[in-house]
Amino acid sequence: MNELIRDGAAWSRRGFLSAGFGLAAAGLFPFRGAAAADGTRRRVLRIAHLTDMHIQPELRAAEGVSACLRQLNDMPDRPDLILSGGDHIMDSFRRPRERTATQWNLWSQVVKNENGIPIHSCLGNHDVWGWDRTKSGTTGTEPEYGKRWACDVLGLDKPYYSFTQGGWRLIALDGVQPSPRPGEFSAFLDDEQYDWLQRELESLPSTTPVLLWTHIPIVSAVVNHLATRATIHDDGLVEAGHVHADSLKIVNLLSRFPNVKACLGGHLHRVERVDLRGIQHYCNGAVCGKWWRGANEGFPEGFALVDLYEDGSHECRYQTYGWQAKEREKPS
Ligand SMILES: [Zn+2]
Repeated sequence: MNELIRDGAAWSRRGFLSAGFGLAAAGLFPFRGAAAADGTRRRVLRIAHLTDMHIQPELRAAEGVSACLRQLNDMPDRPDLILSGGDHIMDSFRRPRERTATQWNLWSQVVKNENGIPIHSCLGNHDVWGWDRTKSGTTGTEPEYGKRWACDVLGLDKPYYSFTQGGWRLIALDGVQPSPRPGEFSAFLDDEQYDWLQRELESLPSTTPVLLWTHIPIVSAVVNHLATRATIHDDGLVEAGHVHADSLKIVNLLSRFPNVKACLGGHLHRVERVDLRGIQHYCNGAVCGKWWRGANEGFPEGFALVDLYEDGSHECRYQTYGWQAKEREKPS
């Protein structure tokens, strides 16, 4: 795997483009969906899943996000849409108003300058403003407090929603919830959102394939590598918020619907696929790698191409965009 990653990280944008779709299709981490290709299926949607951009003025983050968006927009087989997996900005959870504004302005500017592909976003924990009131200096009464600021910038009425494209139902979930501990977060769906998701799935024809995406993975195996930093309480909450605390409840719901095919997540800055009860759960790395300091424990800066087919099958491939972090660069 390390060989693959080193090779992948060395791809230049020129190399990527000249190699065209053939090389891109190989991917760094090519995963196939449950239904194998039979040579006759028809692709109905090509998605670029970008997660954990963590844009900030430092460490050339804006240049990196720009390079990633340029590559997507220049692809000969350009994605139909971008699903953003959250953590658009480095952090607003613990940062004051001015710093938060700087980061969101940077995000909006880069998207405006570099991107012509429709973006649909979900929220990451770092997109939530001021839940750590001590460090951010918020009171909780600001109109932009919490998820409102991010929703406004990203053009969302609510942080969870769904739409249909290419015959697939795409569902954005919002798993970032206040923790019982003040100033922290946990990952779960509150009752209102869970009920909405259940009604949504029950209302769909069984012939409509479904893809969900959310920031914090619903299911993860690699989360075990982070176990030393997580605290599992008696009530089952993984307090550090690495994976959904209500994972089993959601999996039990999803597995009632054979038309639910895949879940995309981010947050862990690692690449993995877990197949569980007929559904593929993908964690698709991070555009920023190790927060703009190179690859994160072997997983390079990248994004996933997700191809959806008319027959409900899909393919997901994680690939780099040729970014080279300057290791000696220090944040200002
Ligand atoms: Zn992140």
